[in-house]
Amino acid sequence: MDPSTLAVTLGRGAENPGDPVNAPVTFTSTYRAGGDVTYARDDNPSWHPFEEILGGLEGGTAVAFASGLAAASAVIETLPAGAVVVAPADAYNGTRRLLADLESRKRLRVNLIDMRGWEETEEACEDADLLWVESPSNPLLSIFDVDGLVQLGHQCGALVAVDNTFATPLRQRPLDFGADVVVHSATKLLAGHSDVVMGAAVAVQDDMIDALRTRRSLHGGVPGPMEAFLAARGLRTLAVRLERAETTAVELEVRLADHSAVEVVRYPGFGSMVSFDVEGGAKAADRVCEQVQVIVPATSLGGVETTIERRSKWALETHLPPGLLRLSVGLEHVEDLWDDLARALG
Ligand SMILES: *Cc1c(COP(=O)(O)O)cnc(C)c1O
Repeated sequence: MDPSTLAVTLGRGAENPGDPVNAPVTFTSTYRAGGDVTYARDDNPSWHPFEEILGGLEGGTAVAFASGLAAASAVIETLPAGAVVVAPADAYNGTRRLLADLESRKRLRVNLIDMRGWEETEEACEDADLLWVESPSNPLLSIFDVDGLVQLGHQCGALVAVDNTFATPLRQRPLDFGADVVVHSATKLLAGHSDVVMGAAVAVQDDMIDALRTRRSLHGGVPGPMEAFLAARGLRTLAVRLERAETTAVELEVRLADHSAVEVVRYPGFGSMVSFDVEGGAKAADRVCEQVQVIVPATSLGGVETTIERRSKWALETHLPPGLLRLSVGLEHVEDLWDDLARALG
């Protein structure tokens, strides 16, 4: 079935006459003794609809986490002490902060590289235990050869993890290329309404799935039942939201590229994210964020509302062009968004 159909049909729970069409939200910390589940840090039926839908879309088994970084931490925590992680130097800044923290405490060795260079990647991979891939990358929207990187990582004996937050399983399925684990910030497009923080890791191999569930239980990065409900509800409409946002993003990209105040536009050809550099650097970019009225100046992305942010204002993002604005395209009408942007740029 088409992913848009799977998103609607999966994760409904029991299907007997009289059953609710939507699985109920289970607010419980514990379960009556004698059953398979004993305590809600190990499992909660409220996680299952989200896990079944996302797992179906990615082609694996999804494990829900309290946030995208909780999922990333769980993947990294499967590594032994002193393991080597190779990651892109322009990965999401939270991932880089996590890796830097682990390295500073001698938990891991971290090698941040320019993954656009194949030779540099090949060389770094030689002693890697984990190859971390993020494509498209946040916020430069670089595209990497996920298929090739999975093969390279495996030749080196490394696990390969792919952060698929920007592409979503509707535009890229890394498990089909043999990736060992896919990581998501469900906070973004999957939940899609800027009202929940949640994450997930998806894998095919039983030992990886078990390891992820064990990390979730031991480190306690469990999503709340309400969050899991909201994220599952968001997934139901992912396909239509993404289609609409993508159509608008393509049109905005074309118009931005034509605008005299815009130096560079970055758009990977799919998805809802557009990054562009305005002439005049940080000051001019800040002015755009102050002038927009329909678009919301805010961090994060993937919601129904269009948001804009100058990314270089953050520590660890100083490698970015100072005038780079990251636009997360939402569901407003393209002409209203363009009027707003053109006015702010003017
Ligand atoms: C936001 C984000 C994360 C972190 O997810 P949280 O849900 O905020 O913990 C990881 N990767 C990418 C690409 C992101 O955009």
